[in-house]
Amino acid sequence: MAPTTDYAPMIAKAEAIAKEFDFSAEDVRKGVKEFLRLMVLTAPDVGLQNDGKAMTMIPTYVTGVPNGTEKGVYLAVDLGGTNFRVCSVSLSGDTKFTLTQSKVAIPRDMMVSDSHTLFSFLAKEVEKFVKTHHADHFEEDISHKLQLGFTFSFPVDQRAVNKGYLIRWTKGFDIKDAVGKDVCELLQKEIDALGLPVKVAALVNDTVGTLMARSYTSPGSTGTLLGAIFGTGTNGAYVEKLSKITKMTKPDAQVGEYDKSTGEMVVNTEWGSFDNALKVLPDTIYDQQLDANSVNPGIQMFEKRISGMFLGEILRNAILGLKKDAGLLNASTIAEDAPLYTPWSVDTSVLSFIEADNTSDLSESKKVLEEQLGIPAANLHTEEARAVKILVHAIGKRSARLSAVPIAAIVIATGKVDNLRPKPVKRMSIVEQGLEAIKSALTGKLPAGAADIPTAPTVKGDKEKAQTEEDLEVIDIGVDGSVVEHYPGFEKFVREALREVHELGVEGEERIRMGVAKDGSGVGAALIALVAAKAAGVQIP
Ligand code: BGC
Ligand code: MG
Repeated sequence: MAPTTDYAPMIAKAEAIAKEFDFSAEDVRKGVKEFLRLMVLTAPDVGLQNDGKAMTMIPTYVTGVPNGTEKGVYLAVDLGGTNFRVCSVSLSGDTKFTLTQSKVAIPRDMMVSDSHTLFSFLAKEVEKFVKTHHADHFEEDISHKLQLGFTFSFPVDQRAVNKGYLIRWTKGFDIKDAVGKDVCELLQKEIDALGLPVKVAALVNDTVGTLMARSYTSPGSTGTLLGAIFGTGTNGAYVEKLSKITKMTKPDAQVGEYDKSTGEMVVNTEWGSFDNALKVLPDTIYDQQLDANSVNPGIQMFEKRISGMFLGEILRNAILGLKKDAGLLNASTIAEDAPLYTPWSVDTSVLSFIEADNTSDLSESKKVLEEQLGIPAANLHTEEARAVKILVHAIGKRSARLSAVPIAAIVIATGKVDNLRPKPVKRMSIVEQGLEAIKSALTGKLPAGAADIPTAPTVKGDKEKAQTEEDLEVIDIGVDGSVVEHYPGFEKFVREALREVHELGVEGEERIRMGVAKDGSGVGAALIALVAAKAAGVQIP
């Protein structure tokens, strides 16, 4: 360590790089405008005709949820970007609701294998789970199968509640032979091969599951407008009027049957591909390096600036830039195969840790840099850790400010800002009738083991919230994912940006209530499986 080194120029350079990550108030407003334009523009495209260059705006065939009086056991599996979860939701009349779940990390090589390898792995996990938790189901001689909701967190061209053809992979997955196939069928085939009494009844995007789960746990009488994920990837699904989903009513539209009685349907936006043309998105050299090294260059450009799969890689690129241009870490001996030199090896949790580090000598950050990036702490000067922290802060803040764009746009597009006075919100009618029953079952006697059911914490103090609810119509949003959950100050930065969007009105941001529906996608999927089974006339004993 050279005590005489002058670190000021390096810090100045770090600040200059941080500036490149600025996403100004004007940028936020331009972003919202462009999002609103693309929401409408992409509406006429149907599924596979969309090559991923634009937001896909997928009709989900979810037009309602159950009435809460059903009985039975519903399975849900959730293939996310990182983990595979299996859970069962057990409903017994209107008094009991239990949830059991298991989770495994998806081996990385499986993400780039072939569809048989992936889906047989998933089926085997289902088998393990069913044999452990529902052994009784094998003993009884019953002809009915366990109904399963499949949460599949990738864009599909949905043609029915239980049928969807994979459009493209995202988040580092790349299994070519699965593209264009019905993923429900792929899973069912492997389940059947194992002789399991399980029927894949519903195919659900994680954002849709989050929306459903939040919708029944959310306090207050207004429905949930939007389910959003800021995790390994990012995306959102919202409740839209059927009359506005014109792609479903075009004469040549290839659409399956759906229940039109509610007048609404959940739309999965696939906003990860918002502005792939980079009209309004910031584009630093570090973003460009990441995109060039990704499995899907040129698409998911919004996601690549926001979500957990990518923030670590952006940081890695920026640190290397600072090292080259301003001598950062020049006194450190870093192994050639250290994570710092290995693409895609820096986890986004690194950013959360460093952002949260309030120690005066940044000792926490140094520890993380040593353990996670392979930069020996011994020769790491506090000013160098400070330079890295400047980069971290800029990358994290940009992610949050970008995240405000689709939230604001969807609130505006659905007309939620038109009414500043309290007004009952029309929600899907089946939801309205039915969810009250489930809600009271949930808030009533929760049986042991139900601790996993998503709760609905709000960001405002109770008093403040009560006031807001009394005076203004609340716009409820369910969120989930590692970034929104763990990145310090994420929601604060989102809210700052929301306040800069003039169309939301003076009280707009305050009316938006965001609550974490932790692992809600599984519960949501089970509930949609229930509706689907009911619609198909399946008797659940
Ligand atoms: C996928 C979406 C998913 C999101 C969050 C994106 O990469 O395209 O379908 O909802 O990640 O998991
Ligand atoms: Mg997930």
